[in-house]
Amino acid sequence: MTTSWVIGADTSDYSSSVLPYGVALVGPSAEPHVVTRIGDSMLDLHTLTESGPVGSDFTDVLAAGSLNALLASGRPTWTRLRAALTSWVTDPAHRPQVEEHLSPVAGATLTLPFEVADYVDFYSSEQHAKNVGQIFRPDSPSLPDNWKHLPIGYHGRSGTVVASGTPIVRPTGQRKPRNATEPTFGPSQRLDIEAEVGFVVGTPSQLGTQVPAGALTDHVFGTVLVNDWSARDLQAWEYVPLGPFLGKSFATSIAAWVIPLDALTEARRPLPVQDPAVFDYLRDDDPWCLDLRLSVDLNGTVVSEPPFATQYWSPGQQLAHLTVNGASLRTGDLFASGTVTGPQRHQRGSFLELSWGGREPFTLDDGSQRTFLEDGDTVTISGWAPGPAGRRIGLGAVTGTVVGGP
Ligand code: CA
Repeated sequence: MTTSWVIGADTSDYSSSVLPYGVALVGPSAEPHVVTRIGDSMLDLHTLTESGPVGSDFTDVLAAGSLNALLASGRPTWTRLRAALTSWVTDPAHRPQVEEHLSPVAGATLTLPFEVADYVDFYSSEQHAKNVGQIFRPDSPSLPDNWKHLPIGYHGRSGTVVASGTPIVRPTGQRKPRNATEPTFGPSQRLDIEAEVGFVVGTPSQLGTQVPAGALTDHVFGTVLVNDWSARDLQAWEYVPLGPFLGKSFATSIAAWVIPLDALTEARRPLPVQDPAVFDYLRDDDPWCLDLRLSVDLNGTVVSEPPFATQYWSPGQQLAHLTVNGASLRTGDLFASGTVTGPQRHQRGSFLELSWGGREPFTLDDGSQRTFLEDGDTVTISGWAPGPAGRRIGLGAVTGTVVGGP
């Protein structure tokens, strides 16, 4: 464990053990610069490495206005840069060159950290899948037949993956209430959230090849918190037989900070036992998941604390499954876990589950009640993970406020 010369950083959720990457809009022309965070400060890696002499060998991967060049550079460069970053914020010898590139993170405008290539969303929490089954199909087995054989997923809409803070316009569409005879059209009346963890692909794969379940760290750069906004009424009417479409594609928010997998080494946990046994392509000699502790805040009330460690399928298995047919990975691909829900009531990662299909309203600290989102509601998903020597690894935050539709 290293200590930083940046005041307050060592006891922060953003100590030198984290060093996340983001993109800030800098100056009057709002130029996008690659940045990291240390304590309550943001370090401008673009100006630091361009001005030299510190980090001048990283100028190429840090000069772009997004993280894509860094993502494409591959694990050896990711490792070298992380070691260099650690040295810049911990070795007092670097302080004179580095300090002038620090600024308060509180005043920064952060934007979408990378250009999202393809976006895939999984459904890997057993408790979430069971809850949804019980809410919608109370007379059937709660898990679909295929659920424990493959990580279920679908391809989402990467063009509407938006930066944290982007207002979420209530979507309009068709819906057909359960007892209605005809569909109706209008703004969604059952707008929901899904608290998820996303994985950001750096190193691509060749078309026609499979990525093994144990090769996650070869391809995946890091994690990013995700809110998969969902219009349950639109979704329920449209999803048979081809799956999620307009009930999901209007917006998916991601956090401003991408957390390197290298910051989450201490958060690795053995994957829970899988029964029945999985096909060989989903096997990994050392399967692991991550102990990430999420928190869902609605208008200042923490309504849920979903534990990511309870996921049934590992991110390595998700990656293996999404490439088993030979589909290739691209730099900037994002795959999300699906709603994270634990076994307890206060660990449910969607309002659908918290309100049990809208039948059991839950109460906020101000006394108001919710089943689904109202206009003006602000949802923030944040989280942390165990780090070295009792430190917490901050996972960033993804926030959004619902505004009325057209
Ligand atoms: Ca989802």
